[in-house]
Amino acid sequence: MESDKWRISFSPQVAILWYSVIAGIFSASLIAFIVLYIETQERAHIDRVTQSVADGIKTLLEEDIHRRMVSLTEFSGVSAISNNMSDDEWELLSKSLYYSKQGYHSIGWLDSSFNVRRILPIEGNETSVDFDLAFQPLALLSELKSQQQKSAVITVPLNSLEGKLGLGIYVPVLKTTPSSRKIEGFIVSVILFDPYIKSVLPTYLIAEHKLTLFIDEQKVYSDQINQSYISNASNRQTSFEIMGQRWQVNLMPNSEFRPFTLFRMFSLLIVLGILLSFFITLAVYTLMSARNKTKLTKDDLKKTAQLLKNLPGMAYQAFNRTNRPMIFVSEGCKLLTGHSKKQFEKHNILWGKLIHPRDYQRVCQTINHALKTNRLFELEYRIITKNNDVRLIWERGEPVSSIVNDDFIIEGFITDITSIKQAEVDLLQSYAFSEAIVDSVVDAVITINNNGQIQSFNNTAQNMFGYSFDEVKDINVKILMPQPYSDHHDQYLAQYIVTNETHIIGNGRELVAKRKDGTTFPIHLSVSEIHNNEKKMFVGVIKDITQQRTLENEAISHIEQMAHADRLNALGEMAAGIAHEINQPLTAISLFSQTGKNFSEKGKFERLPEIFEKISLHARRAGSVLERVQLMTRQGDRSKEVIASTILIDEVKKLAESEARLCDISIQLLTCKENTNVFVDRVQIQQVILNLLRNGMEAMQSIACKNGALIKLQIRINAENNVEISVVDTGGGIPKTMIDTLFTPFSTTKKNGTGIGLSISKSIVEEHGGHIHFSDNKPAGAIFYFTLPIHEEGIPNDK
Ligand code: ADP
Repeated sequence: MESDKWRISFSPQVAILWYSVIAGIFSASLIAFIVLYIETQERAHIDRVTQSVADGIKTLLEEDIHRRMVSLTEFSGVSAISNNMSDDEWELLSKSLYYSKQGYHSIGWLDSSFNVRRILPIEGNETSVDFDLAFQPLALLSELKSQQQKSAVITVPLNSLEGKLGLGIYVPVLKTTPSSRKIEGFIVSVILFDPYIKSVLPTYLIAEHKLTLFIDEQKVYSDQINQSYISNASNRQTSFEIMGQRWQVNLMPNSEFRPFTLFRMFSLLIVLGILLSFFITLAVYTLMSARNKTKLTKDDLKKTAQLLKNLPGMAYQAFNRTNRPMIFVSEGCKLLTGHSKKQFEKHNILWGKLIHPRDYQRVCQTINHALKTNRLFELEYRIITKNNDVRLIWERGEPVSSIVNDDFIIEGFITDITSIKQAEVDLLQSYAFSEAIVDSVVDAVITINNNGQIQSFNNTAQNMFGYSFDEVKDINVKILMPQPYSDHHDQYLAQYIVTNETHIIGNGRELVAKRKDGTTFPIHLSVSEIHNNEKKMFVGVIKDITQQRTLENEAISHIEQMAHADRLNALGEMAAGIAHEINQPLTAISLFSQTGKNFSEKGKFERLPEIFEKISLHARRAGSVLERVQLMTRQGDRSKEVIASTILIDEVKKLAESEARLCDISIQLLTCKENTNVFVDRVQIQQVILNLLRNGMEAMQSIACKNGALIKLQIRINAENNVEISVVDTGGGIPKTMIDTLFTPFSTTKKNGTGIGLSISKSIVEEHGGHIHFSDNKPAGAIFYFTLPIHEEGIPNDK
């Protein structure tokens, strides 16, 4: 968007013009500034160097003359003491003075009448003799001055016989007596400027300058080097006084500086070149990219036209005047409004006229605001098409910089959203409709996310649990569960998310729920998983089964009552056998009591413990029969216990044996080795087994046991891993007429039968989670068998 804005706001031509002007001004200013700066720096640099060279020359000359004076004065002192020194001696001493410093032309000894007594013509320096001090008027004046002042004097610049300029330095040789100081002569040294200056001043010091030396305004030395000079403005001079003479050094920098200056200028040009190249490159790049953007090939134009044509709406460019006359509209205008592109672009149709009168003001306000803030705008409003249809449209536009007659221009895109809006309305309605359905169902419907937080809670759920949706929204669903369910729920859910293993999804199960007031109630919960925007959600449908449970409990209670009645009935029928069973131990007790009495009368007390032991054994036998009878007559105790099914059937066998014996039938017990623990109501399950045994025995008795007198009671683990208890008789088999109604109450073939034994047995077995079946026994008789779930250690069977 930003780049578009840039492109629209500044035309490429304007951008290039601005770039060029800015670049030009900037470059010119930069060049002027740098040249000025370098010029100033150069000047200051040259001035500084020249001044320091001048100062250096001054110091060197002053120091040199001073040192020469000192050594000449010392020599004059030595000369004064050794007036009669030999020529050789004098030559030796003067030579050491001569060579102590470079630049001496000659060193001589004048007597007080200025006659040269001794002079040191240095070998190869014979011209020194031409420098006849004694006959130079200016030299004579200096000698006189030295004589009068009795101090060292330097002559004005003198010409040698060869025309070379030089200086004479006179140092009086003073013979000091206690009363006076008498001049005995002079030590005179001559220095010629040309070799002197070159010997005193190092070459490097004046290499870059032309040096001119003046003494008392007489030019005494000038460099002979023919060089060009930078400018007179850089001339530097320094003056100083040596022994009353004004020495002046003039320095002018020479062209040795030029390479340095050229280097600087060259560097400057490189920098400027780089800068200019940068600006030129930038300008060219801008020009090229602007041209590339604006110069559309025919293909591009074709593609653009096609693109505009395919747009699901109308692209436009319009004046922001009253009624928004269009400058350009894409072909989509026809489909959108029914009016042609030509009509819009020739202003026969004005967009503003199509806007629904009720929306017109709002549209104008939004666009004007966008113009003021220079922002994009988005609008939804109605237009009236050529066919007088009202269509809802969506517009997105942007004010662009004015390019025509200072009018503001808007560019944008308009599309018909009537059907989208309608779909949205339909969707909302269908959503509301679904919500209404969910709210009106009789079951509670609760949605949770994968963190267990409640996301929806229909009306029934609100009534069932006593919470409003706002109270439970985003709260963990375990708020609706009592312990221990609530403690484990998060763990179950997290485990499911990872492993996808669950027992509840798709199955449904009966659980206990908790209301807001803390009371609990039984529910049936079925859960299904849904995916909402790739997030896992769970929908729980909850049925309050309180009423169902009450009815079930009532039915169970009825069954229990009937079962009790059936048990009493069976016991009544078994009374003869039971009486016989009790009678036997009682008879034995009576016999043993009599025997005991006899033994005690005869004094055979040692036999009595054995007799009492036997009495006790038979009493326990009678007691256990009564205990079993008592157990079977118990009513209402429905507590379950974990018990081995072998014990269950063993007890029943004992109870049934009394009756079996009366009929001469024997009961065979067949057990298995595996774990056959079951979680059952002992009395009820034993009632079932007893029923089956008694039915079998009755069936065998009814045919006078012609197929045999053995009835089998056996236990095994079946293919479904349940305990299976079966009673196999050899009676007459199930009458065909009874096959369909065997488990229906009150269906019996017996004279005194009640016909409820099997139906009660079925109810009891099913209530324990098992099934009861029958089949024919081969070759004769019937098999009745029922199953019970095995009780695994540690896992409660009825949860
Ligand atoms: P009742 O024993 O009082 O008749 P039940 O419900 O126990 O009531 O038995 C219903 C009927 O099923 C019996 O009357 C009998 O006809 C038939 N029946 C039950 N067990 C057997 C069996 N082992 N062999 C043949 N018929 C049987």
